[in-house]
Amino acid sequence: MERSTELRTVKRSIWGELNYRLNWIIFGTIGAVLLAFIPVIGWIMGAGVILAVLWKTFGFRESQLVGSCPACTKLLPIDPKTDVFACPVCQSCIAIQEDKLVIIKID
Ligand SMILES: [Zn+2]
Repeated sequence: MERSTELRTVKRSIWGELNYRLNWIIFGTIGAVLLAFIPVIGWIMGAGVILAVLWKTFGFRESQLVGSCPACTKLLPIDPKTDVFACPVCQSCIAIQEDKLVIIKID
């Protein structure tokens, strides 16, 4: 038996988006300040971090890959770089295929 759910891309919610950008500003600034203590290389990297923060803060809204857990239907954010993960809710082992999530039975 193979149960699977479709993967889809969504835009973040307004609150999720605000939170995400705020995190970028806060941690980006901390990172840039720390890098500023390293002469030359740190300054260049710090400038790169600042640019990344500005891009992430004022850039377009990014879309995110999501899919429902095939076992418990919980909506989960999907990292396209991973291929297998455990559902944080029901602990089911789930494989990420091209455009769908497939439950893996371990027994
Ligand atoms: Zn689940």
